[in-house]
Amino acid sequence: MAPVLVLMDQSKASMETLALARTFGSPLHSVRMDAIQPFAPDAVAAILAHVADDLNASAVFAAGTDRGNDVMARLAARTGLPFAANCIGAEPGAAVGVVRQRWGGSLLETAMLRAPRALITVAPHMVRATEGPSPIEVDLKPYVAQIEPTDLVVQVKGHVDAAGGGVSLAEAKVVVSGGRGVGPKEGFAIIEELAGLLGAAVGCSRVVTSAGWRPHSDQVGQTGTKIAPDLYIACGISGATQHMAGCKGAKRILAINADAEAPIMQNADYAVVGDLRQIVPAISAEIRKTR
Ligand SMILES: Cc1cc2nc3c(=O)[nH]c(=O)nc-3n(C[C@H](O)[C@H](O)[C@H](O)COP(=O)(O)OP(=O)(O)OC[C@H]3O[C@@H](n4cnc5c(N)ncnc54)[C@H](O)[C@@H]3O)c2cc1C
Repeated sequence: MAPVLVLMDQSKASMETLALARTFGSPLHSVRMDAIQPFAPDAVAAILAHVADDLNASAVFAAGTDRGNDVMARLAARTGLPFAANCIGAEPGAAVGVVRQRWGGSLLETAMLRAPRALITVAPHMVRATEGPSPIEVDLKPYVAQIEPTDLVVQVKGHVDAAGGGVSLAEAKVVVSGGRGVGPKEGFAIIEELAGLLGAAVGCSRVVTSAGWRPHSDQVGQTGTKIAPDLYIACGISGATQHMAGCKGAKRILAINADAEAPIMQNADYAVVGDLRQIVPAISAEIRKTR
């Protein structure tokens, strides 16, 4: 049976990706996302292309993260193979059947990939990570030698530390998020305070990142990070479909909004109607009393 190649790092999204790849029942091989340092998506795509050819892999999987989708789009462009992004299901066969998210996850599409090799990314938080054999890691050295200078044109040149206490937005158990209603920038002090007390990550809507009040790395939604915390506290966020695409994986949503008719109220498990500038500090004060 033709092997399957998986692009891996240490993230939960990679473990979920591995779980879907295992359902193919084929020998699994992996290439590490950090095979090239600093990260260079074209170079990683070049390595995947070489290794997949060498193994005659029937499919290449990666997590549907920013980096995973970036690398796989480049792999598709350089090989001319079809690429199905953000899948939640995949079945092997002469044509590989996939179920993939469209419209920011608001609908699911069933599609067939008719090609010698399927390129698939797996939507984060949608597939349960399973126990199973780890992939055989391919010795990368022979492939690294085939990297061309043009593969290094796009390369990470520096890192900016995320604001806040270092809790990862994608994997936080609790996220406290602010929208236009929190602004301007200084208004986020009460969001950060509550997040700090709860050991939570700070999130926000796109209006907030567009206004420059928070970095893009904090944005939740279709064009931001997709999250699946136990609790999502949405403050001054209306609940546009593009925002909900990023937070509908939350187990519980608490909405704090001045408008009882805001769309987010339809999706909230708990709602507090009122001025967040009073409600959020009041919640923080109550938490402090219990400590
Ligand atoms: C292609 C595309 C992709 C997009 N991707 C994303 C994305 O990834 N993430 C995203 O978030 N958006 C995204 N958007 C934008 C999205 O459509 C909305 O415009 C945006 O989510 C609205 O942000 P908001 O809820 O902060 O602002 P608004 O919609 O203006 O809502 C502000 C809310 O704050 C409430 N409020 C105001 N003052 C207070 C107060 N004092 N106390 C309590 N409540 C108050 C109001 O009642 C209102 O409900 C995208 C749009 C497009 C077209």
